[in-house]
Amino acid sequence: MERNYISGIDPKTGSQITLAGWVQDIRVLKNVSFIVLRDHTGIAQITLKRENLSDYDEIINISRESVITVTGSAVKNSISRTGPEIIARDVRVLNRAESPLPLGVTDPVNSDIDTRLNSRFLDLRKRENSIIFEFESSILWGIRRFLRSERFVEVHTPKVVASATEGGADLFGVKYFEKNAYLNQSPQLYKEILISSGFERVFEVGPAFRAEKHNTPRHLNEFTSIDIEMAFSDHNDAMAMLENSIRSGVEEVLDDMEDHLKAMGYELKIPKTPFPRIGWMECYDLLNSEGKAPEPGSDFSPEQLRIIGDRYDGFFFITGWPEYLRPFYTMPDPENEGFTNSFDLQLKEIEVTSGAQRVHQPDLLEKRFRDKGLKPEDFDFYLNAFRYGMPPHAGWGLGLERLTMILLGLNNIREATLFPRDRTRLSP
Ligand code: ATP
Ligand code: MN
Repeated sequence: MERNYISGIDPKTGSQITLAGWVQDIRVLKNVSFIVLRDHTGIAQITLKRENLSDYDEIINISRESVITVTGSAVKNSISRTGPEIIARDVRVLNRAESPLPLGVTDPVNSDIDTRLNSRFLDLRKRENSIIFEFESSILWGIRRFLRSERFVEVHTPKVVASATEGGADLFGVKYFEKNAYLNQSPQLYKEILISSGFERVFEVGPAFRAEKHNTPRHLNEFTSIDIEMAFSDHNDAMAMLENSIRSGVEEVLDDMEDHLKAMGYELKIPKTPFPRIGWMECYDLLNSEGKAPEPGSDFSPEQLRIIGDRYDGFFFITGWPEYLRPFYTMPDPENEGFTNSFDLQLKEIEVTSGAQRVHQPDLLEKRFRDKGLKPEDFDFYLNAFRYGMPPHAGWGLGLERLTMILLGLNNIREATLFPRDRTRLSP
């Protein structure tokens, strides 16, 4: 279909155009009526005059959110509050919307999140909502472009697997013919096998599944993970790659859509690199001095992370986590018994990335399995890749929805997910 986009209308020329989109609003008077037409690029005011349209009475009965095409001419130098003005010569209804609508499209976003998600197709017609996903697309392009320039190969690994990546609970089981299988929690083990294959640098963007029962504003049961793994590298190399990935992603977004984001009230700045680093032990001491240290063996709570995060304006790394808080594949710190060459990237109390140098020695890896109460035999497909020439390596996993959430200042991760899967939601 030949059509023009609303953002491309040049009101200086008053040229003949065909627009296509949704009827956002209609105001009916006797001999002249006005439609606010919306396409993906903006809104325009369509002026309908009885004298120009033989089917005038039919057209003005159109319901909101119906899909139409309009052919007409842009009025020279006329820009109203509802965009450039078009005098219609021909209006075609492509599909009529039922009414009433289950969710208003023009009112500000104020329905509760469940009502919105139930009618997500309508909720996403609101610009302030759809722009979140344009942001997500754009930042991912930026990160991909950067990783490609650093010679990373994008890979795709199985999501239906025979054993748990991290051993433990939090797994969704699926029937796989005669066998029991699981939905993968992370591509970790496959990324590492590919390092042994000689790819040297790989990344993957794909779904990760966690059967976590809690319902929080930061957790989904299916999320999108950006994962990298790099050979002949340690945790410091991985942290540098992470900072630069995020910076490149934000640069891409600002190039693409800075003005659109501003118009929707989102203020985004290029994060300054390198990000500050603070040791886990230093965090612990800091909390301890305020009488707020975690119980032995437990992780920092959001409240504790908030105390640490309040010392920083933006992103910061917490490095050197104790072994008991990290998975078996994490490399112990040779100079600091009981601790690891690992990091989390944080913004305030919210974790966006976990990463580390990995264990590359098969003997040490087997020992780490046993220390964590896992059976090395269950992981032969993985361990084999370590027995015949595995380089030292490091990597990280970054949650795309978490990243979007913190960069845009959203207060619920569901806002950054088209069709969220949470403890109770499996549809749409
Ligand atoms: P958290 O402690 O916040 O539950 P985690 O430490 O269990 O996260 P990792 O296994 O380290 O998560 O996963 C790496 C990254 O993937 C996290 O930093 C986060 O950005 C993202 N992520 C992990 N779990 C979830 C989830 N349930 N929902 C959304 N994103 C997640
Ligand atoms: Mn983590």
